[in-house]
Amino acid sequence: MKMKAAVMTEVGKPLQIQTVDLANPKAHEVVVQIKATGVCHSDLNALYDTTTPVPTILGHEGAGVVVEVGKHVTNVRVGDRVALSWMPYCGICEFCITGAVHLCESAFKPMFDGTLLDGTSRLSKDGQRIYHYSLLSTFAEYAVVPEMSCIKLPENMPFAQASLIGCGVATGYGAAVNAAKVTPGSTVAVFGIGGVGINAIQGARIAGASKIIACDVKEANLEIAKQFGATHTIHIGEEDGEEALKSLTDGYGVHYAIDCSGHTNATETAWKGTRRGGTVVTVSAFHPSKTLKLPANGFHRMGKILKGSFYGDVQPHRDFQIISKLYLDGKFMLDELILNRITLDHINEAFTRFEDCNCTNVGRSVIEFHSDPAKNQDETLTSGQAI
Ligand SMILES: [Zn+2]
Ligand SMILES: [Zn+2]
Repeated sequence: MKMKAAVMTEVGKPLQIQTVDLANPKAHEVVVQIKATGVCHSDLNALYDTTTPVPTILGHEGAGVVVEVGKHVTNVRVGDRVALSWMPYCGICEFCITGAVHLCESAFKPMFDGTLLDGTSRLSKDGQRIYHYSLLSTFAEYAVVPEMSCIKLPENMPFAQASLIGCGVATGYGAAVNAAKVTPGSTVAVFGIGGVGINAIQGARIAGASKIIACDVKEANLEIAKQFGATHTIHIGEEDGEEALKSLTDGYGVHYAIDCSGHTNATETAWKGTRRGGTVVTVSAFHPSKTLKLPANGFHRMGKILKGSFYGDVQPHRDFQIISKLYLDGKFMLDELILNRITLDHINEAFTRFEDCNCTNVGRSVIEFHSDPAKNQDETLTSGQAI
């Protein structure tokens, strides 16, 4: 099948809109017609990452309709409306059988190799292999993805909103609900109000936290945090984070702190601003050279917990459904996360937007697809400015 896609041909260069080939799905694979895909900061990171195999088609949060299934697919059927997860899981490995499907062994190697689960690619152009990205490659009209990446959604779930669930939404929501296990009436601090942190605030709100304290260095992010459920804010850099957290919690510190900032000093402040018996969750993907400096007495007599969380500890087939239902019930804000809706031709503008330091880190550009594949034209335009 021929399809239009935004192809990363070189590290750091604008994506090229090209017509590429998509091969048939193999066993346990599904062809999804992409209806909407969010542009995530991780896509920008991949564009500048010299270890990203090229050419590749980026994009790892999307939603669409199943149009074809490979052999032995039982999870979804043609016509199903699905959101995509970049963490397919096998269900039988050491991690899956203990419930930690987000740590499944099967996805990591293909994710970094730029292939599907069997180590090969379904993407090419003029016979040359194109790599997959995060087993999805949603910056294209269609994608061949693992069956277990497809999560069936309610029929009335809109595609643009659904496309956001599979990355920052699930990670933030899950950090609060699954990893921290925020309880009703508790106090929660969220460090780093971006695409993940804003949804950690939503998760804490849904879990019934009595105080949700947003902590960030940008005033604009703090203002947005209030719209999503933050009851208090701390402007890091202008206020001492530890003191401010304690003053908001009768001197004790918060029950839960969730660090989504990417900065080790924020994790350290979160730890110091958390009470005895409290839990600090960090979702930050720190560089391997980074180390944390924490007062060692926090563990024994203070009984605190420091916990890492990957992909919000989500169980996609459970949690994507829950988030969709919460959205449809008016309890989870997804409309407000969509900053603008663009076509694939304008994808480079969405990337450029990330580098505009005047904008906040919250929210997404969402690419929507309306084109008929029969009308594809091979074009190599790059409508955005050079990145
Ligand atoms: Zn992402
Ligand atoms: Zn597994």
